[in-house]
Amino acid sequence: MDNRLQYIAENYEKMKIGVDDSFPFHCTMCGKCCINREDILLNPEDLFRIADFLHLTPKEVVEQYCVAYIGDTSRMPIVQIKPQGTIKRCPFLKDQKCSIQEAKPTVCALFPIGRCVCIQKDQALGDNTPEIQYLFSDPGCGDTSESHTVREWLTSYGIPVQDPFFSHWQHIMLAVGGYIRKSEATSPQPVLEAIWSLVFQSLYLEYDMETEFMPQFLENSQLVLGAMKRLASRVKE
Ligand code: SF4
Ligand code: SF4
Repeated sequence: MDNRLQYIAENYEKMKIGVDDSFPFHCTMCGKCCINREDILLNPEDLFRIADFLHLTPKEVVEQYCVAYIGDTSRMPIVQIKPQGTIKRCPFLKDQKCSIQEAKPTVCALFPIGRCVCIQKDQALGDNTPEIQYLFSDPGCGDTSESHTVREWLTSYGIPVQDPFFSHWQHIMLAVGGYIRKSEATSPQPVLEAIWSLVFQSLYLEYDMETEFMPQFLENSQLVLGAMKRLASRVKE
C-alpha cells in the first residue's frame, strides 16, 4: 500500500465528510499544486473530456501530454500527465493558469476533497451501487477565509455527488485488475502484453468523439470484462 493510501486507511474516520458538511478552504492561486507533480492520473472520462476540449483524440492526448504504465498495485494500465522540466510543471499550466480549466482532471477539480467507494471483493457490477464517501484533511495550502460544502464544490465543477462513472470505474479497476493478477501467475509475457494492450485501448482510447462518453465506456468495459472472463475460464480448463 502506498503512503497516501496508508494515511487514508489510518485516518479514514477523521477524514470523512458529509456532502452537506462544510470545509474551510480558499485557493490563493499560488499555482504550487501544478508543479513538482508526478501523480496526476487521468481516468478514461478525464482523458475523453480533455481530448474533447482540445479537439484531439484520447490517443493524441496520451501521445502529447501523458505517460502510460502498469500500476504497481492495481496492475492496470495507468495514464499520468507527463510533467515538464526540472520543476516538473504540468504541461497544461500556462501563464500561471490551468489552460484546460473547463476540462481539468477530476483529481485537480476535487482538490482538496478526496473520494472513495467501499466495494466488496466479489461484488458484481450493478449490485447495490455503493455510496461514494468524501474525505477532507488540511491541504496545507491556501487559507481558510472561505467555507464550502462538498455538494457546492462538486456542483461548481459539474461533478455529480453520486458520480456513476466513478463507482463503475472503481469496479472495473478492481475486477479487471484481479483477472490480470491471476493471469500474471499463469500466462507468458506476450499474452500479458496482449491483455494490457486490449485493456488500455478499450478503456482509455477507443471512443468516438462525436458520441457521448458514458454509453461507450459501459460498452467497452463490458467487452473487456467478457474477454477477461473467457480468458480465465480457458486457463482453468
Ligand atoms: S491539469 Fe490544470 S489544475 Fe491540474 S495540475 Fe495541470 S495545470 Fe494544474
Ligand atoms: S490549490 Fe493550493 S497549491 Fe493549488 S493553487 Fe490553490 S492554494 Fe495553491
